[in-house]
Amino acid sequence: MEKTFAIIKPDAVAAGNAGNILALIENNGFRIVAMRKETLSRAVAEGFYAVHKGKGFFDELIDFMTEGPVVLLALEREDAINKWREVMGSTNPEKAAEGTVRKLYGTNIGRNASHGSDAPETAAFELSWFFRGYEVA
Ligand code: ATP
Ligand code: MG
Repeated sequence: MEKTFAIIKPDAVAAGNAGNILALIENNGFRIVAMRKETLSRAVAEGFYAVHKGKGFFDELIDFMTEGPVVLLALEREDAINKWREVMGSTNPEKAAEGTVRKLYGTNIGRNASHGSDAPETAAFELSWFFRGYEVA
């Protein structure tokens, strides 16, 4: 069993799609280990996305991620990291496969409805950035 970290981003929460995305998550065999709704501060969002600092879209990304509440999730299943990225679809909703979260609920490459960790090291960092050890045990 593997754990990954996911976010239902502010666009999807504001549009009332959080429940639909949670249903997709459970229908794809993930266990929701931990879940919390909150509005991220700029400091928290900038720390989370530190790898993207210096990129042209960084300020736009932080504006977006702090504009309203998100749903933070720890998810578990076999091959969770790859499987969740598959269920989310391509970063750009226009290129995402039919039935994926980003195709169904994303607007554009910036406002793309969801986040997923991309490797075991980033999953460990991202889970620890948002959850205490006992919450994701
Ligand atoms: P995430 O990390 O959110 O799961 P990802 O791994 O598919 O998405 P990254 O390259 O890590 O994509 O980019 C992080 C986020 O930054 C994207 O999900 C998107 O919201 C935003 N982003 C990426 N590229 C662009 C871009 N060219 N223009 C605007 N926003 C972008
Ligand atoms: Mg990424």
